[in-house]
Amino acid sequence: MTANQNLNVVPFVSVDHMMRLVLKVGTETFLTELADVIEEDFLRWEQFDKTPRVASHSDEGVIELMPTSDGTLYGFKYVNGHPKNTKEGRQTVTAFGVLSDVGNGYPMLLSEMTILTALRTAAMSAVAAKHLARPNSRTMAIIGNGAQSEFQALAFKAILGVDRLRLYDLDPSATERCARNLSAKGFSITKCASPQEAVEGADIVTTVTADKLNATILSDNMVGPGIHINAVGGDCPGKTELHKDILLRSDIFVEYPPQTRIEGEIQQLDANYPVKELWEVIAGKKQGRDNERAITLFDSVGFAIEDFSALRYVRSKLEETGLFVDLDLLADPDEPRDLYGMLLRCEAKLQAA
Ligand code: NAD
Repeated sequence: MTANQNLNVVPFVSVDHMMRLVLKVGTETFLTELADVIEEDFLRWEQFDKTPRVASHSDEGVIELMPTSDGTLYGFKYVNGHPKNTKEGRQTVTAFGVLSDVGNGYPMLLSEMTILTALRTAAMSAVAAKHLARPNSRTMAIIGNGAQSEFQALAFKAILGVDRLRLYDLDPSATERCARNLSAKGFSITKCASPQEAVEGADIVTTVTADKLNATILSDNMVGPGIHINAVGGDCPGKTELHKDILLRSDIFVEYPPQTRIEGEIQQLDANYPVKELWEVIAGKKQGRDNERAITLFDSVGFAIEDFSALRYVRSKLEETGLFVDLDLLADPDEPRDLYGMLLRCEAKLQAA
């Protein structure tokens, strides 16, 4: 059965399907194609219905809903962020998402999005860096070597040609694992003993740590001219990674300002501090990097349109790969208004059996 043949079943992409899909397409090809879909959607930014994500905070973390629509399709993602989870054998971030037909409201896809979020976050970071980092950037420091880190490295390799990594994590075993996982992927890898050592000679610095506090992963003296900072880990109120002085020296680029002002590094700045929207740079309406010595900062928090793009991309792969199952998710009485009658017919069948 193809993704669309039966109106009453919904294609479901499980974690297992997603892994097979990524491996079948090839991780770097997947990241490159996904980056193209994200750019496509950023180029039509004004068509989208946009709202800051709806966040439910607790002492331990956050659960968020991220909706958007382009008028034809509607998408949302459910995602959590719980930094303490890894100590209990759980992921910090897990997610799933839905894509629906705006015309009739029926879901068209239900997908795991834990792996897909790592892929889309990495693809988004690389798209931003393509427009903001110095051309020919080859060396990237990654501070925070957890679940997102290898995906970040692979996206920067596939999309920018970054092939030298400098890794640091508070937990050396995380750095070991990240280095091991990437060892056959064409990188030259340096394991570093401090964030200071990691940023030495880096063209790009990715911060992707998880802690529910205003951390100082990078202090002002660690950031030299010309660097591009890809700040991924600060994505909640009270959860940031950069010293405020770095922000004051940087040209700052964001996804959707009303959300980033609440959640991003710029929560440390005045509410009207000037920032540029990335979509305007991609569309050629605003300049990205304006000189070799500028410090550019992508204050990434993750926005609904990126998840919409990711779901749209995954859906485009279903028919050719068959990597989904049909879910019996939508009630389908013979006569649409006879929902209760359907229950009665089921009861009769069960009694007859
Ligand atoms: P993870 O828990 O798997 O990994 C985080 C790593 O950071 C761990 O290895 C931890 O030891 C390390 N770390 C914590 N504090 C550190 C410090 N001070 N210095 C160095 N390393 C430190 O988490 P993950 O899934 O990789 O996610 C990382 C962060 O990225 C989270 O905060 C998450 O919310 C965020 N995130 C953002 C986006 C986005 O779109 N911007 C998307 C996904 C995840």
